Amino acid sequence: MNKKPLSLFEMAQAQLDEAVGILNLDPGIHAILREPMKEFHVSIPVKMDNGQTKVFKGFRVQYNNARGPCKGGIRFHPDETIDVVRALAAWMTWKCATVDIPLGGGKGGVICNPKEMSEDELERLSRGYIDAIWEFIGPDRDIPAPDVYTNPQIMGWMMDEYSKLRGYSSPGVITGKPLAVGGSLGRGDATARGGVYTIIEAAKHLNIDLSKATVAIQGYGNAGSNATILLHDMSGSKIIAVSDSKGGIYNQEGLDPHQVLQHKEETGSVINFPEAENTSNAELLELSVDILCPAGLETVLTEKNASRIKAKIVAELANGPTTPEADEILYRNGVFSIPDFLCNAGGVTVSYFEWVQGLNRYYWDEEEVHQRLGKIMTKAFQAVLAESLKRKINMRLAAYIVAVARVAEAMRLRGWI
Ligand code: GLU
Repeated sequence: MNKKPLSLFEMAQAQLDEAVGILNLDPGIHAILREPMKEFHVSIPVKMDNGQTKVFKGFRVQYNNARGPCKGGIRFHPDETIDVVRALAAWMTWKCATVDIPLGGGKGGVICNPKEMSEDELERLSRGYIDAIWEFIGPDRDIPAPDVYTNPQIMGWMMDEYSKLRGYSSPGVITGKPLAVGGSLGRGDATARGGVYTIIEAAKHLNIDLSKATVAIQGYGNAGSNATILLHDMSGSKIIAVSDSKGGIYNQEGLDPHQVLQHKEETGSVINFPEAENTSNAELLELSVDILCPAGLETVLTEKNASRIKAKIVAELANGPTTPEADEILYRNGVFSIPDFLCNAGGVTVSYFEWVQGLNRYYWDEEEVHQRLGKIMTKAFQAVLAESLKRKINMRLAAYIVAVARVAEAMRLRGWI
């Protein structure tokens, strides 16, 4: 009989259950950790450019705030579901705990297709989402940020809307804002940069020379596009394939990521880049490379393709790119996975810096941001690696052990059970 595939949130719960089993946690703590603390489901009426009003569905999940206010991005996506937002909110909880920043986990989503909306419609939707949830968020309560198909401009509108409703300027309510309205230097490429710091540590551990390494990156949003540039410029690695939602490009001799970026900006996609062959997203994942970065959407590595993955390191810049079945296959085959909530934690780490700077009205220079980010990412990677080596378990389970133990300790100390 075919097993029904797990939903994304069931997948997150199954991962948690495994870690809790090893940690031998109190059943009450386990029960609290398996479910989100609060969920908001909202309807957002938006006057479209043609004069008609359309109602969009939106969500905000506040998963756990034992270690601090909830924190996590907002996605604008046509296939968004509450199940996906729940899973992502759980992973934000583990992410903030893994890098040991004083924040809990949350996530938001709006079902919409931003590619088919005008700038004005997007602004009205962004403001409408805040009108619907503003009483439940705030610098001490829940602090959103950008994620799939949302960007600094959208964060700027949301911060403005929240500030108008409150009656005072509140830069601490949201992160990933443009610099001129309280953003942080270094937030733009923070997810990719944090990921690169973890790749550097993984390469050291595996004795891989990054200046000779080949790389394929799937997904060309904020994380993927910045990762191509940083791995090329900082580590001298050879980027042999990249892709976006329309398809991929491949050149065994290496791509110039700056030119690819320019091509994407001019044509709307990486495909048909003159100095490369077109390829598909599925083919890209199976290329013979040293480092594979899934940097787009969830569940791209599954039991169907995991056995054909040839990369030595899988660096998960996306959230949830690997299913539990694929995880097992990869681990068995000796692929070293840097799990999502460790690998992509650089974004929320610099969000944390932005929040701190906003609350203090005192901003740091870029060097300070990079240096602090490097320190946090390296320390988190080493803590997870130590756990993985000590217990002879894969890096994801090790990251869960580190994170869940920290959240559970905070819950105990606060007297939640
Ligand atoms: N959306 C990013 C993530 O998944 C950043 C979240 C944040 O900065 O709060 O980690």
